[in-house]
Amino acid sequence: MERITARRARILLVIFALVVGFFALRLYDMQIIQTDGNTYNASTFTTYTRVKAARGDILDRNGNKLVSNRASYDLVINHYVIESADGTNELLYRLVKRCQEQNIDYTEHFPISKERPFVYTLSEQSSAWQGYFQKYLAYMGDLDSDITAPLLIEKLRSIYRLPESWTEEEARLVIGIWYEIDLRGCVESLSNYVFMTDVDDASLSAIAELNIPGMNVEASTVREYSTKYAAHILGFVGKMNPEQWEEYKNNEDYTMDSEVGQDGLEAAFEAQLHGVDGLREDTVTKDGTLVSSRYIVEPKAGSNVEVTIDLNLQIAAEETLASVMEQLRSQEPGKDGADAEGAAVVAMDTRTGQILVCASYPSYDLNTFFENYNTLLETDYDPLFNRALMGTYPPGSTYKMSMVIAGIDSGVINSQKPIYCGGVYQKYAPGFAPKCLLWTNYNMIHENLTAAEALMYSCNYFFYDLGDHIRLSAMDSTAKGLGLGERTGVELPEYVGSRANKETKKELYTGEQTVWYQADQITAAIGQSDNRFTPMQLCSYTATLANKGTRYKATFFNRVVSADYRELIMQSEKSVLSHMDISDEAYQTYNEGMHMVAQNPSGTAYKIFKNYPIAVAAKTGTAQTGNPSGSDNGAFVCYAPCDSQPQIAIAVYGEKAGHGSDMGAVAKAILDIYFEVGEIGDVNIYENQIS
Ligand SMILES: [Zn+2]
Repeated sequence: MERITARRARILLVIFALVVGFFALRLYDMQIIQTDGNTYNASTFTTYTRVKAARGDILDRNGNKLVSNRASYDLVINHYVIESADGTNELLYRLVKRCQEQNIDYTEHFPISKERPFVYTLSEQSSAWQGYFQKYLAYMGDLDSDITAPLLIEKLRSIYRLPESWTEEEARLVIGIWYEIDLRGCVESLSNYVFMTDVDDASLSAIAELNIPGMNVEASTVREYSTKYAAHILGFVGKMNPEQWEEYKNNEDYTMDSEVGQDGLEAAFEAQLHGVDGLREDTVTKDGTLVSSRYIVEPKAGSNVEVTIDLNLQIAAEETLASVMEQLRSQEPGKDGADAEGAAVVAMDTRTGQILVCASYPSYDLNTFFENYNTLLETDYDPLFNRALMGTYPPGSTYKMSMVIAGIDSGVINSQKPIYCGGVYQKYAPGFAPKCLLWTNYNMIHENLTAAEALMYSCNYFFYDLGDHIRLSAMDSTAKGLGLGERTGVELPEYVGSRANKETKKELYTGEQTVWYQADQITAAIGQSDNRFTPMQLCSYTATLANKGTRYKATFFNRVVSADYRELIMQSEKSVLSHMDISDEAYQTYNEGMHMVAQNPSGTAYKIFKNYPIAVAAKTGTAQTGNPSGSDNGAFVCYAPCDSQPQIAIAVYGEKAGHGSDMGAVAKAILDIYFEVGEIGDVNIYENQIS
């Protein structure tokens, strides 16, 4: 029994020796042979670098680039290599001093101010970074989390053995970099420390000269605007703020330092434009020699988005709008429009709701937006304000088509029966006696007018009388059906404004002022009272008139194509937001009246569209601003052609521009390009003014 056992033990021993030998050979093989004879041993380290994905381009409807990317360089620090180097403190000191001397900005998250008195800046950071700071305090040897900022600097100064000769501020700067290095030791999910993004040549060479071990240049991209136009709608990208991170943190395509669209189309189409950043695993030796490198996640470029804007139309619109407004302001003080302020224009394809032009004046250049931001905040007439979507204005006489429809389709008037304009509406005199502008300006009266003629002359008396006889509910539901005071469906933030009615008065005022009087209804009928609409709504309204009551969702979205432009991923489909039945009689009446505005010698926009080869249906508006000393606002809407299927609707609005007909020049500049029309006369005539 014992003999057998001894023999078995010998056999086991031999097997054991063989197994150990085999593994010893494997180890030799792995260490020496597979590293090409390089005989360093295990002192390598693996780090992770985020590789930025290219964001998709934004193009206009004809494929012109509006926003794209340019190549850039980031400086990334491999924490393992710099930590392993000789004299890390001295290296970091040289780095931060060089940046200080050359005024080079770099990224660093240490949550204490860089200057004395040292205070915490933790509240400016996202909850994730706040959490990292707590981990760091624990990692550094259980530093008390309620330690004061100056005391923490003092403690870290001693932990990192920073030389006595450095000032407190110098020590703080070096501690800032040490913080980033050591965070990589205690927070596993953090990728390599990106010291600088989009480094310019001068900074790059100033820093490269220092030969900091572990400092690498990584290729990246930054956003570039190919046009100085459309600034209000393109928007920009930027790092997420803490609230945005809360929104994106469960989306695996994003990391905490991802950039997202912060405004405009960049924000509206974030889901299509954003790419997925890659993650690269690098294994390096202490001296920075790369042993291996591979992608854990391949970077994936974002898709390209074609928007509905037509850049040529947008340029013509912005330039004409600026020149009209500047011309108005160049008049002698006291003249109508000499105090003109901001303005906006929107053009839409009536058949789809696609927005061809969306401009706000004054504007700015997105390429210099960040460096000029403080100046822009101080600039006259607030260039950063997007009036096309956020400005709410009284529509003035452009509202009258809604009244014609409400009047005819509720049976209060018909297309043939005239109303007599006597100049002053006397029914509620002397308490309330509003005047027709022809009476105010020339002491003249329009006498008998049909509804179409009342639109052509823009007679107020006609609409006072209609407003007095119609039910408020008919007036209000028609305006609502045409999209006034309603969302247009556009992808950017917009205000909805208000329709003048009983509910609005209750919302806007208090006490006695909440009472709805007949005078309110009569002034609402000429587009005053509490009627406040955006230029985008006025354009959607005009397109709905052109479509005889069908209101398409306003949209900036045309299609999405793949990053390599080879594949169509998504195509916009038109969608109907609402439909209101408009009778043939009402449609023919406003269509004819608006056509006469543009192309009858008595029309208020005749001088702009005289002999125009395209049949244009237009309406001017002059709206009181509530400020008796300033000029009135000017409004202009049109659609064309009005003798066949309309294709385009335009709304232009000028603050204190005096007359809507001046705004008509902007619409004409758009129509000229859209319909390829050459030069014709361009002298203006104002509402109720004799030429
Ligand atoms: Zn009149």
